[in-house]
Amino acid sequence: MPVTCSSGCGKRAILKRPKTGDALCKDCFFWAFETEVHNTIINGHLFKPGQLVAVAASGGKDSTVLAYILKILNERHNYGLNLVLLSVDEGITGYRDDSLETVKKNRDEYEMPLKILSYEELYGWSMDAIVKQIGKKNNCTFCGVFRRQALDRGAAMLGVDCVATGHNADDIAETVLMNILRGDIARLQRCTAIITANEDAIPRCKPLKYAYEKEIVMYAYFKRLHYFSTECVYSPNAYRGYARTFLKDLEKVRPSVIMDIIHSGESLSVREGIRMPEVGKCSRCGYVSSQELCKACVLLDGLNRGLPRLGIGKSSKVKEALEREKNKVAADDF
Ligand code: SF4
Repeated sequence: MPVTCSSGCGKRAILKRPKTGDALCKDCFFWAFETEVHNTIINGHLFKPGQLVAVAASGGKDSTVLAYILKILNERHNYGLNLVLLSVDEGITGYRDDSLETVKKNRDEYEMPLKILSYEELYGWSMDAIVKQIGKKNNCTFCGVFRRQALDRGAAMLGVDCVATGHNADDIAETVLMNILRGDIARLQRCTAIITANEDAIPRCKPLKYAYEKEIVMYAYFKRLHYFSTECVYSPNAYRGYARTFLKDLEKVRPSVIMDIIHSGESLSVREGIRMPEVGKCSRCGYVSSQELCKACVLLDGLNRGLPRLGIGKSSKVKEALEREKNKVAADDF
């Protein structure tokens, strides 16, 4: 027997919301999903009128939904934002080249300017070239560090006030789990914060922080949004994979687990006495760093010297290796 939409509109329900279990028709689902994102934006004070906001766009479901929903909420609620798309091209053949084509389609459909920055132009290395050097084991370390900085650089070039990223509730719950499993309570603060900011960098915010991944997929599907869904060809990230599988198993028996884990992470992270690293500027590139040299410069140094494993591991070991390398060069010169 057909189920009626539980919102009381009288229409036939076509889906069961993974987050709440409510049976809803398409229009009421759109309204509920959009209203929740709007509430996240308002309650978290994510934007101010007149701001220029870059949407970090990969062409995947999260950033596509984010760009689309920010556009409609901006118009519906008069946020007064100017929106631009900011993409990073890691240089991964068969993955990023195709997903960037989707971003270009979104640029045309949503009428937002698009800026693409590549690892090749910023660092002189594409991910294809890095994987050739280091293999497929630590490639995501390089990619993650370079991407974080590339977004900062792109945001500075565009002169934006804020970068909105597509992190969803599942991503955040996974990261909370990973940080707890690693015993890294200090990082909980950063991963659960809806806005991350320090005086040397442009703030980042997560408007989809409380949006379930399954609902993002449903929203994109029913809205017929264009997004790219192929996995990265260099995607081993086994540790996150275990956390993801564990979370999905828990979600099957208790759908609220995603929100529960986020709230646990939030309450753990407000405990007093957690020391966060002091943030300053890298003495070489001038971008944000808690060390004298930022991680991107250390990794790049390693690649350029033919010692790609240099920046992977403890910073004291990195310093020792750099010192050894410097002495060796000095001895060779002599
Ligand atoms: Fe980069 Fe790893 Fe993500 Fe691929 S899976 S885009 S290499 S971080």
